[in-house]
Amino acid sequence: MLVGGGKRMKVGVLALQGDFIEHQAMLGRLGVETVQVRLPQELEGLDALIIPGGESTTIGKLAEAFGLIEPLRQFGQQRPVWGTCAGAIFLSKDARRQQPLLGIMDIMVVRNAFGRQVNSFEIDLDMPFLPSSNGHSTPFHAVFIRAPLIESVSGNAQALATLPDGRIVAARQGRLLATSFHPELTGDDRFHRYFLELAK
Ligand code: GLN
Repeated sequence: MLVGGGKRMKVGVLALQGDFIEHQAMLGRLGVETVQVRLPQELEGLDALIIPGGESTTIGKLAEAFGLIEPLRQFGQQRPVWGTCAGAIFLSKDARRQQPLLGIMDIMVVRNAFGRQVNSFEIDLDMPFLPSSNGHSTPFHAVFIRAPLIESVSGNAQALATLPDGRIVAARQGRLLATSFHPELTGDDRFHRYFLELAK
């Protein structure tokens, strides 16, 4: 996939903890150059960044230890950032408990909102904003693993996808995206393509 000027797109994946390899594999299949980000200088020259799922307290503490909190906040003011699951928590302004957060998205999240690991589930959800090849968009298979819920959006953030009962599981704020679920664990690349469009 190309950015302006015919240059190949280069996307970072925060690689402190969690399922960054799965995001990298999906991006690789889309023809995107990927970079594992563990240090502030590795953000240089990236067109966008993905923060993977994992354990948000661990990701936050490691980000603090590596001096990444401020550089990530600055990156998010200029370029697209997408957080999946723990990554969405890390992007939020409020996770209802004390833990290091970037706080760059006007969303409030509730961690482990669906219960324990055994209560993980998968569900097909309508996401009409996703690219479609045949004129109408098929439902997206959403994988929830000890997932957070986006309890509320405020300011410039908007709900992007909900469960059938209306609870929010994806939000967008300009070029920032948060999803409670894990598109990188499916074979469906539409969410990644949607994100990459924001970076073009
Ligand atoms: N339960 C994790 C947390 O609260 C998130 C789980 C995930 O990323 N799949 O940080």
